[in-house]
Amino acid sequence: MSTYSIATATLGTPRIGPRRELKFALESYWAGKLSEADLQETAVELRAKNWERQKARGIDRIPSNDFTFYDHVLDTAVMVGAIPEAYGWDGGAVPLSTYFAMARGNEQVPALEMTKWFDTNYHYMVPEFSPDQTFRLASAKPVDEFKEAKALGHHTRPVLLGPVTFLALGKSMDGGLDPIALIDRLVPVYAELLGRLAEAGADWVQIDEPCLVLDLDEGTRQAIRATYQALAKAVPSLKIMLTTYFGALGDNLETALSLPVAGLHVDLVRAPDQLDAVAKGLRPGQVLSLGAIDGRNIWRADLVHILDRVEPVVAQRGKARIEIAPSCSLLHVPVDLDQEDALDEELKSWLAFSLQKMDELAALGKALRSGRLSAAPEIEAAAKALEARAASPRVHDRAVAARAAAVTPDMARRARPFAERRKKQQASLGLPSFPTTTIGSFPQTTEVRKARAANNRGELAETEYVAFLRKETESAIRWQEEIGIDVLVHGEFERNDMVQYFGEKLAGYAFTKHAWVQSYGSRCVRPPVIFGDVSRPEPMTVEWARFAQSLTDRPMKGMLTGPVTMLQWSFVRDDMDRSDVCRQIALALRDEVTDLEQAGIRIIQVDEPALREGLPLRRADWPTYLDWTVECFRLSTSGVADTTQIHTHMCYAEFNDIIEAIGAMDADVISIETSRSKMELLEAFTAYAYPNEIGPGIYDIHSPRVPTVADMRELLAKATDRLDTAQIWVNPDCGLKTRKWEEVRPALEKMVETARAFRASAEAAE
Ligand code: GLN
Ligand code: ZN
Repeated sequence: MSTYSIATATLGTPRIGPRRELKFALESYWAGKLSEADLQETAVELRAKNWERQKARGIDRIPSNDFTFYDHVLDTAVMVGAIPEAYGWDGGAVPLSTYFAMARGNEQVPALEMTKWFDTNYHYMVPEFSPDQTFRLASAKPVDEFKEAKALGHHTRPVLLGPVTFLALGKSMDGGLDPIALIDRLVPVYAELLGRLAEAGADWVQIDEPCLVLDLDEGTRQAIRATYQALAKAVPSLKIMLTTYFGALGDNLETALSLPVAGLHVDLVRAPDQLDAVAKGLRPGQVLSLGAIDGRNIWRADLVHILDRVEPVVAQRGKARIEIAPSCSLLHVPVDLDQEDALDEELKSWLAFSLQKMDELAALGKALRSGRLSAAPEIEAAAKALEARAASPRVHDRAVAARAAAVTPDMARRARPFAERRKKQQASLGLPSFPTTTIGSFPQTTEVRKARAANNRGELAETEYVAFLRKETESAIRWQEEIGIDVLVHGEFERNDMVQYFGEKLAGYAFTKHAWVQSYGSRCVRPPVIFGDVSRPEPMTVEWARFAQSLTDRPMKGMLTGPVTMLQWSFVRDDMDRSDVCRQIALALRDEVTDLEQAGIRIIQVDEPALREGLPLRRADWPTYLDWTVECFRLSTSGVADTTQIHTHMCYAEFNDIIEAIGAMDADVISIETSRSKMELLEAFTAYAYPNEIGPGIYDIHSPRVPTVADMRELLAKATDRLDTAQIWVNPDCGLKTRKWEEVRPALEKMVETARAFRASAEAAE
């Protein structure tokens, strides 16, 4: 084996395949249409091609065990035997059926909980630990895949999720237990695994401990120190590349530098400023892995800028102890730009997906190894592309910049305080107490989807498609009137997705055809690309809103996706501050809001389901984030008269940390998800004495179950214990697009019945 003077590494690659081969294989396997052997064969092929591609593109440190059928955290849980009793594991080899039961649930058992992987849009399965949890090596997947690669001629560096991060991501099923306390039981299993990897011929292993970029308590830091001392001692022959990503080591730097590991990877995209401190603090023999290429975004890298920054460090540390890598695993970017055919060539020339990022790494490797001249063509091409992008009229719109610069604080404030607006709104809307409404979407039936697909293919003429949508909308409105909903929605039948629908109508956004990124399991998303200044060439929803309102005398809610959510669920340009991009979107939405008002819409809902998930990983960074996100929301919603009622919606509920910011958004009404937690999640609103109106969801729309009136009464009673009666709205947890009409009809009828009962007793008490 050669020793590289400068090694390139990917840290991990997308698993789904360039054409989502894994998704389709998994889904046919789950549907009983593909055998387990055939599924395994697809996986073998995908891995082989993945290794081959990396080798061909000049990657030196090729990872193995970055592949997974569903999720790498779930793989780790299975590997160490953290399989809750409910899944009936017999202690032998873990069958694929048990693995998928944990991932997806089945008739007998629910799936493990799922949540977001740090601040990404990737979701992992949350490991569960019992108080008497024990661990043992239940699967040797990392060893098997190392050998599989070896047989194909690739000497790989296996990737493991680090034991401390693994525990930190899990939850204990006995409230009191801190999962980190289980570390002493877990480390021997990792030691055994490392021993087996060494035996199989591995010389390096990559261990991911992204928890090192979080706020940690001293106990967790101590666990990290003890873990790596134990592992280094247990298998001294195996070198550990400890990777950290998604942010700066910050106050964990000292801990990271003190560990007896052979190499340390740091994120220089999110945290470029930590380079010098890390380089200075590493011991002379340690390898520094420079996370210089953005693993979270799709823009072509500025190679010259990267070289300017890292060359001095390379000169100082010596080429033998440097690796060049993406900031994090390439899991979070699409596979191959060359497969993309929906984007034009100009836009494509500004981008790099996972394979193009490998080319960038190879070019950087060459330049650092043998001087910039040796990579002159690549460096020059990158510089040219960057220059063209910076100068492109498609990116810069003077009018947008001027408008953003002219924003005044007044524009982000309603004219009068809530208490005054409320009186006027009550007078003009004339709603009863416990007003009922829904969150926006109604079932996207097969018929609706088929019509949209046919229209997209050009097989259903626009006029016919629109006629069909109008018919759907009208019948949804008639039905809402019939069952007695107070504030109606049009149903969102014309929308494909709450971000895409608006993105397609805004300037500055582009959409791809094949740029899929794994969201969870076999589910992938295609985030839109915000490449330029965002503006609204023309009204986006006004015609539909006007049409819907024309069909009824009851208030019809205008329905928009908020600026923070429009930002958060996209790939965002990297040549401008995120807050500035968000402000541009907010201004475009502001025009839409005032146009809706002009068109006679008296209630406008601006959804912000992504506001909380955008919170920075470190608490110290929260205030800044909350400041600009709240400002952007207010900028988009403050252009209206006092009488116009602004709603917002958020489909989660952990508000404790951010309740003041939620209050500062100053929406007249907020609807949130509370039914699963049995209103516990209202605590934050009670403790803070949330002043505006609020609709705590009383219908769990994530379940096909139709709640009974008794269920909903119980929930609403709990809400009245915690909130002022006059504050309360009655609504489901979220939009209904994933549900069936057979569920939605009875559920909403019962919801109205429940609201009426509360209204009657409130009136009787007066
Ligand atoms: N208005 C959207 C809907 O009802 C809101 C969806 C969401 O919050 N995720 O579908
Ligand atoms: Zn929601």
